[in-house]
Amino acid sequence: MKSIGILGSTGSIGTQALQIVDENINKYDISYLTCLNNYKLLSQQALHYRPKKVCIVDSSKEKQLSKLLKNENIEVYSGVSGLHELSSFRTDLLLNAIVGSDGMIPTINALKNNIQVALANKESMVMAGWIINDILKENNRRIIPVDSEHSAIFQCLTGEKVSNVRKIILTGSGGPFRTKNYNEFKNIEKKEALNHPNWQMGKKISIDSATMMNKGLEFIEAYWLFNLPKEKIDIIVHPQSIIHSIVEFTDGSMKCQMGYPDMEVPIRYAFSYPGRSNSSSRSFNFLENDKLTFESPDYEKFPCIKLAQEALKSGYSHQVVLNVANDIAVLKFLNDKISFTDIPKVIDKAISSHVSIDNPSIDEILELSEWTKEFITNEVINV
Ligand code: MN
Repeated sequence: MKSIGILGSTGSIGTQALQIVDENINKYDISYLTCLNNYKLLSQQALHYRPKKVCIVDSSKEKQLSKLLKNENIEVYSGVSGLHELSSFRTDLLLNAIVGSDGMIPTINALKNNIQVALANKESMVMAGWIINDILKENNRRIIPVDSEHSAIFQCLTGEKVSNVRKIILTGSGGPFRTKNYNEFKNIEKKEALNHPNWQMGKKISIDSATMMNKGLEFIEAYWLFNLPKEKIDIIVHPQSIIHSIVEFTDGSMKCQMGYPDMEVPIRYAFSYPGRSNSSSRSFNFLENDKLTFESPDYEKFPCIKLAQEALKSGYSHQVVLNVANDIAVLKFLNDKISFTDIPKVIDKAISSHVSIDNPSIDEILELSEWTKEFITNEVINV
């Protein structure tokens, strides 16, 4: 039995992960589950999967959750401190499916305790890739990526030497506004931005896909996960989302990982790694999908990609501010406080206004996060 702890179990990745556990009840066992505030679903999951511990990060919901789990012999934790405590709790595998910056400390905690991490929270790598890689090196471990592109690259690199990589090519669908005229961008409404053509995902990442900041964050994520120079990382738009990424080797040979767009595949791989498990998913039909197309990303229409690439070039603190500013800007857009085209503007302003720090420590990253949250909130009032 492999014990699995899931952070963010009520979200899009978390619920899909639990379906995989359901199909493999003799292989996987849930050690703990956490969520932000959906206490009803968390209690149902707890009663079904019988973890030892659960945590609700929104403490105001703790009473309701405890009531639903009374006499069940499941320990209830709450708040950010509860989440941090659980992320250090012994388990064979921790799946971090938290949305946004809040996922960073749990990733670091788990790695410091030498726990194997499957990472769906790309923001951890963007905000603290240098710290995370130091811990991984010390423990001689690797993160198993759950982001579909990075899972693809990870799978292509299995059995290969990174020194034999000529380049990696991250694919992206281009999002819902790939063909939309830029003149119409300022009127983009939230429901259009949430409506991704290929992937069913949570709200934050759907907006990130619409602005293409998602690809920018993934560029930084790839840099830290695979320890490759930025010049060896390319981005290409592939609207059908069938090829999930490509690795080109020094001898000119290329490998790609492909299949229908379905997050179950990378989650399943992370759970079964280094082996593979069985899935009842349909086989890919080449004859029904005979048009796979590719194009350059439009950096003018989607300035977020360049913002991320510039942040990676400029320094570690720039990546922290980029990530937190994006988290907050997306939230403000979802709350109708700013327009779609304001998102890159406020992020850019936050990055150029911050005081750069060379090699920020965890405490400095957290301070910088607070500064960024405040900056964006003040900035939004003036938009
Ligand atoms: Mn992705």
